[in-house]
Parts: sequence; structure tokens; C-alpha cells
Amino acid sequence: MDTDVLVVGAGPTGMTLAGELRVAGVSAVLVDKLAQRSALSKAGGVQSRTQEAFDQRGLLEPLLATGNYPAGTAHFAGITLPLTRDRHRHPWRSIPQVAIEGFLEQHLAAQEIHVLRDHELTGITQDEDGVTATFANGGVIRSRYLVAADGGHSTVRSLLGAEFPGRPGTETVVAADVRLSGDDQAMTHTRSEDGHWVLVFPLGTDPQGRPLRRVSMGGPGRSVPREVPVTEDEIREGLRAVFGSQVELLELCYARRITNAARQATRYRHGRVFLAGDAAHVHLPIGAQGMNTGIQDALNLGWKLGAAVHGWAPGHLLDTYHAERHPVAAAVLRNVQAQSLLMDQQGTGDPDLLAAKDLFAALTRLRDVQYHLDDMVSGMGIRYPMPGTEDQPLVGLPAPDLDLGPVRSHELLRSGRGLLIDPAGRFAEVAALWPDRVDRAGQGTGTEPMLIRPDGYVCWAGDQDALEPALGHWFGEPR
Ligand SMILES: Cc1cc2nc3c(=O)[nH]c(=O)nc-3n(C[C@H](O)[C@H](O)[C@H](O)COP(=O)(O)OP(=O)(O)OC[C@H]3O[C@@H](n4cnc5c(N)ncnc54)[C@H](O)[C@@H]3O)c2cc1C
Repeated sequence: MDTDVLVVGAGPTGMTLAGELRVAGVSAVLVDKLAQRSALSKAGGVQSRTQEAFDQRGLLEPLLATGNYPAGTAHFAGITLPLTRDRHRHPWRSIPQVAIEGFLEQHLAAQEIHVLRDHELTGITQDEDGVTATFANGGVIRSRYLVAADGGHSTVRSLLGAEFPGRPGTETVVAADVRLSGDDQAMTHTRSEDGHWVLVFPLGTDPQGRPLRRVSMGGPGRSVPREVPVTEDEIREGLRAVFGSQVELLELCYARRITNAARQATRYRHGRVFLAGDAAHVHLPIGAQGMNTGIQDALNLGWKLGAAVHGWAPGHLLDTYHAERHPVAAAVLRNVQAQSLLMDQQGTGDPDLLAAKDLFAALTRLRDVQYHLDDMVSGMGIRYPMPGTEDQPLVGLPAPDLDLGPVRSHELLRSGRGLLIDPAGRFAEVAALWPDRVDRAGQGTGTEPMLIRPDGYVCWAGDQDALEPALGHWFGEPR
């Protein structure tokens, strides 16, 4: 074997995964077909759960120190959810994808993981022991496992012949990074009487410290084939159709058309090959969820591949990747569909639809509705199906960040091992059976006992008799 895991694609998903494999103590090679990192402006919004996951690896503070990334308010279908603002330790934040990728690449390099660029994967074969990947440059890499993080047009997915059902892109809207007149930094979705709309959200600042905004726009007759370049005049016209002369375009930095294609791989696992990120799911980027879902796929998969390489993974562990992550992206695809409809992206002006939207907007003034929608898009409401979820409200959910005196529990997850919170100091003996895989902490604190997986999800709580089976279920045979 040249490496334990070959990660194909150095976007946010692949880079996060390579980092997770390093945390898990296994070797990884990360390849990308591009000669240098993409400068395309894509994601702008980073959800609470993604930030929390970065924090659990000690990466959030250094990432935030690389620029000015304002916290904002989550939205659903362009309707802001102000009552959710202080709900999470890490509120929704604007961090451009290019900044995240630059930061992750540097972080990996500091750990001697360098992206092998100019490596376009063109072939794979797998057998009982591993996967052989071949490249356009004539290179060959043999690994135990391969992860396809090679984006929406995934070569690996095509080579596998993996099913990727869904809807092709039938319509487009414009997304552009701009500087606008005025200094309003709020997220807004504004619609004119005749169906034209503009969504604006803050995107941090440009190198001169001036505020940048992401605008998306559409309306009747504005769905133009993807290949047609977006012009400055088109953006000005789109702004004028909605804001009149109130908002002016000062500078157009970047623009593209995005489609409403929506697809998801039927299976995330194909033997020793796994699909993650956009290679596994694509959808219209509404509500800042694509990159976030990909990064969280990587967090889910990394420690499981590590366990398999180290030889302690229980037989079912690698299959839980599909079982846990497929429903998450399926739910994202559905909420994106609903948002796209409610936003009347094509500006149909259908009175029935507008009536439904008005009713929906009225409902979103209710706190519980805002919380429900926020749970959905922030990632904080993701609950994985696990033994114990029926009886224990915490099991399957992201672990709370517990105050354990000198440290927070999230800081302890930096080790990449599981964490047993044992306030009454009762579980020393049982934890000692998994010394290389699970740490024990929290003795003498007033917290609730719980077992947290390396990816930060609670996998046992409360029932003492169920602890040993839970340890075996997630961390394999005792040593
Ligand atoms: C305008 C826009 C706005 C968006 N806004 C948001 C947002 O606010 N929040 C959010 O969460 N998401 C957003 N998204 C979605 C987000 O950009 C994607 O979900 C994200 O890029 C997916 O990351 P990935 O690593 O899975 O794939 P990618 O970023 O596509 O990376 C795939 C990598 O694989 C490489 N590759 C491809 N084929 C091969 C091959 N054969 N061999 C080797 N390497 C290969 C590519 O060069 C690339 O570097 C937005 C997208 C767009 C277009």
C-alpha cells in the first residue's frame, strides 16, 4: 500500500477528511486535478455545527483569526430567523470558501500533508485488500480505502457507475460577489411586485477592508443558460428592478449562474470506496448547506476509516457512514426544494404560491418555528439513528460543550478519541478496557454522564448497564 486512504479532491470536503485521518493516526494522500487551488467564489455561509466541529479540533480560533468574518442571522427561504441568534455558541457566520480552503491547506501542510496537484484521477479498480487509482499523468496510487471528494461532477462516481438519481438543472439564477452602495450588513430578500428578487448577504471584506456582499438574483425571464457569461449590466438591471435607484453596484468582483440541479447518490459506500461532499449530493446553494454538509460528511467518515485501518472497527461501523449521512443530505435536498419554491425563484408571481409564502412568513414569527427551521439548516438538530435514541434525549445529537473546570469537553475531543464523561467517577474500570480509544473526564463536575464519539456526537447517556455495550458498539472489542 502507498497509503491507508487516498482522498480524491482537495475541496473543503477532501481537505477536512485528510485532516481527520491525520487526527485518527492513519496515513492519507490527498490529490487534486488542479495545478493550484481554485479561486472561484463559492460558499459564503458557515453554519453553527460546522464551526463547532472545527472548534472540536482546535481549528476555529485560528481560522477566524485569518480575516474579518461577521456573524449573521440564519435564514430560511430568505426570511431571517432573529430569535435564533444567541442560540448556539457559534452563530452563523460569513466565511468565504476560498478562505476556508486556504486555511485548511496550510493547516494540512503544517502536518506534512501536501496536496498532490496535477493529479487527475482517471481510473480505479478495487479488490479484497485495497483500491488502485490511476492518473492522467501516468501515476498509480494503491490504498486500503479511497474517498471520492471530487465534487458534483465526480469522476470516481462515474467510474463506479454509481446511481445518482434526481433532477437535472432546468433553471438558473445569478450569484455574484459585489460591492454595493450603503453599509447595510443585514441579510435581506427583497421582491418587487413583478416577481424580480434579490437576496443579499454580507461576505466579509475585500483586501482593502471594504464590505463585500453576495447577491443572488432572479425573476421572470432571467433564467439564462449556464454558459452565458453574467454581465455587469445584468447585475445593475437586476438591482434596479428590485431597489430602484436606492442601491448601486460599485464593483462586480465575481459572478456565475447556478442551476437548480438536485441529485443524491443512492449508496455512499461502494466496497472500499466512499462518496462524500458534492460527489454524493448536489443542490441549489440556498441557505448555506452544501459545503457544510460535505465538511460534516468528512467528520463522520474520518474516524470510522481510522478505526478500520487500525483494525478495531466493529463490522458495521463503516456502513453507519451511509446510514447516518444519507438521510442528512436527503433532508437538505428537500428543504432546499421548499426554500426555492417559497422564494418563487423564477418570479412566476403565482398568487397561490404568494399566499402560501405570506402564511409561512407569518408562522416564522413564532419562536418554535424559528427554532425548528434553525435546527434544520444549522446542523445542530441533526440526530443520527443509534441504539439508545428511543430512550435518551441526548443520544444521536451533537454533544453539548460541557464546562469541566479547567477545560471544555469540546477541547478534549482534539485528541480524536472518544470521550466518556464520568461525573461520579464510576466508570474507571470499564473505560480502562478501551484505553487507546476512549478518554475519561469530568469527575467531580455536575454534568450528566455521557459517551461522545470522536466526531462529537453523543452515543450513550444515562443508563449505566448500557455503557459497556455502547463502548463495544462504537469502539470495538476491548483491548
Ligand atoms: C455560488 C455558490 C454559493 C454557495 N454557497 C454556499 C454556502 O454559503 N454554504 C455552503 O455550505 N455551500 C455553498 N455552496 C456549495 C459549496 O460550494 C459546495 O457544496 C462545496 O464546494 C463542495 O465541496 P467539495 O469539497 O465536496 O467539492 P468541490 O469543492 O467541488 O471540490 C472538488 C475537488 O475535486 C477536484 N477534482 C474533480 N475531479 C477530479 C479528478 N478526476 N481527479 C482529481 N481531482 C478532482 C476538483 O478540482 C476540486 O478541487 C455554494 C456553491 C456555489 C456555486
